[in-house]
Parts: sequence; structure tokens; C-alpha cells
Amino acid sequence: MKKCQICEVTQPVVRNMPSGRWVLGENQFYKGYSLLLYRFHVEQLHELTPKEVEVFLQDMYSIGKELFEKLHPVRINYAILGNTLPHLHAHIIPRYADDSNPHHSIWNTPLEKRIKLTTIAQRENLLNELI
Ligand SMILES: [Zn+2]
Repeated sequence: MKKCQICEVTQPVVRNMPSGRWVLGENQFYKGYSLLLYRFHVEQLHELTPKEVEVFLQDMYSIGKELFEKLHPVRINYAILGNTLPHLHAHIIPRYADDSNPHHSIWNTPLEKRIKLTTIAQRENLLNELI
């Protein structure tokens, strides 16, 4: 069986949530860009029971609200795609006033323009802001 990159993720957790792990994205072009990784290997949202969906969406809401209150973006984007990594996860993306492409999803901007890999120390500082 092919290994799942999300099941194997070992990066620091902002917080363990009821439905899974809240982690920071490696790319912090959008400060606070977060992922909610579902706790079990499930590919798509519709594979969950309604109660499990409720818990997962509640966690997305809680993360978005906390990012909004602590980092002060103008908007939070929420996305569940799974096209590249087929393990249920949600992207929770703060969007700021100085956004160069505010009317489109982040994926509309080429990766080479939005890539901003952070050092471990920078991510630890951000983790401390969020904890
Ligand atoms: Zn997996």
C-alpha cells in the first residue's frame, strides 16, 4: 500500500483538535496559513458520518475564528480539495488587506509568486503567537 503523506506528517502541531491535528502550512506567504488534518485516513468528507462532519466543520470554524482574532486578516478562506493528497484535510487561509489577488483563491496565484518557506524558528514564533 502506498504511504500517505498526511498520515506520516510529523510537523509541530498548533493544537490537537477533536477531529484531527491543526498544523501550520510550510508556506507562510499568507501568515497563519493552516491545515486541519483529519485524524484517520479518510479520503473525502462524504465518507464521514453527519456527526463526524459536524465535528470537523466545527474545528475548521474554531481555527478560522482564532486566526482571525489573533492575526487580524480581513477574511478567512476555507477549502477542502484533496486533489493532490487524498487524505481529508482542510486549508484555512487568512487573507490580508495587502493581498495582491484578493478576489481569487490562493491557487490562482502561481506557486513561485506565493512561495515563502519559513525557517523552523519563524514557524515556532508563529506557533507561540497562536498557542
Ligand atoms: Zn492518510
